[in-house]
Amino acid sequence: MIDGNEVKSIGYGTFWLCSDDFTIKCYENSYAYDYAIANDIPVILKSKHEHYIVTDPAVAPNCTKTGLTKGSHCSECNEVIVEQKVVPSTGHTYKKTTTKAKPGTNGAVVKTCTVCKDEVTVSTIYAPKTIALSVASYKYNGKQRKPVVTVKDGKGNVIASSNYTVTYTNNINAGNTKTKPTVKVTFKGSKYTGSLSRTFTINKATNKLTGAAVYTKTASIKAQSFKLNMKATGGKITYKSDNKNVKADSTGKVTIAKNFSGKAVITVTAGNNNYKTATKKVTITVKPAAVTLKSVKNTTVKNASKGKFTITWNKLSYATGYQIQYSANSSFKSGNKTVNVKGASTVSKAITGLAKNKTYYVRIRTYKTIAGKNVFSAWSAKKSVKIK
Ligand SMILES: [Zn+2]
Ligand SMILES: [Zn+2]
Repeated sequence: MIDGNEVKSIGYGTFWLCSDDFTIKCYENSYAYDYAIANDIPVILKSKHEHYIVTDPAVAPNCTKTGLTKGSHCSECNEVIVEQKVVPSTGHTYKKTTTKAKPGTNGAVVKTCTVCKDEVTVSTIYAPKTIALSVASYKYNGKQRKPVVTVKDGKGNVIASSNYTVTYTNNINAGNTKTKPTVKVTFKGSKYTGSLSRTFTINKATNKLTGAAVYTKTASIKAQSFKLNMKATGGKITYKSDNKNVKADSTGKVTIAKNFSGKAVITVTAGNNNYKTATKKVTITVKPAAVTLKSVKNTTVKNASKGKFTITWNKLSYATGYQIQYSANSSFKSGNKTVNVKGASTVSKAITGLAKNKTYYVRIRTYKTIAGKNVFSAWSAKKSVKIK
């Protein structure tokens, strides 16, 4: 039996070997029906019906699944009226977004499907972690110190400098413990945000005091002043004298009290936050003043083969003593004799044993024992005397 609903042609001798009970099932007036009648083949008629058409709704495709077009079929005979066709899946529609990394928190590049929200991590942006400095410790030089930074992330990779700006604060002065020299890295751009800071060190510069360390002055009946010409590499200079008769003020001006002869040590100190402390000792020796030779008088000594002269001079109350020098040489270049007179109050001295008919030249100076050493004044003007 054949079900010849849609048979359009049948060839000659098609059913030649079929058995006697061969029938054709078909609709009336169909081609198969006509063929069966013409060839005397028994026919079973099928009853024709109106299809009960049911719509097969379209199924929309999504990111990962295929869809179907709208179709229809007969609910009675299941005959497909309009075939549903497969619609391919759309695939994801990804959009990239970046979450910036910041110190302490990694960032990431993520692609998210705008349709189904499917999320895929493309890459991790590791958080900035450390700042290395080209130089971590400087000496103060009055200028801004700007060590070069190398910034690394949590994986130890260098972060390119195009991702940040660098600022420096408190980067000139030394010795500032409250506000240390600081370098701050502020992140910018599409991958990083936030900032990292670290401090570095500026040490005090070396310091040196330059200027004369020894002064020799002469005592005076008036107070006298002079300036210490002391210079420091840096910092304020201060002065401290160990002798109340020699005062030093804050400008380095030294004032020697009237009639003072002796020694003073002035301790000069310089330094501040930026310069180390430098000290220098300045020794000031004040020689005693000279005295005036008042007179040199020849005194005749009767019945003596040798002559004598007596000299007198002005008193210098603070002198340790006096030194008299006499010579037959007017410029004291040879043949000098020296006589010391101890004590300030002695103001005359007789010199004996002098050759007669000879002219002697005489001069006097004072001395003071300062720190165990005799310090002499200048010589007085000389006077001459002829021994008779
Ligand atoms: Zn049907
Ligand atoms: Zn999707």
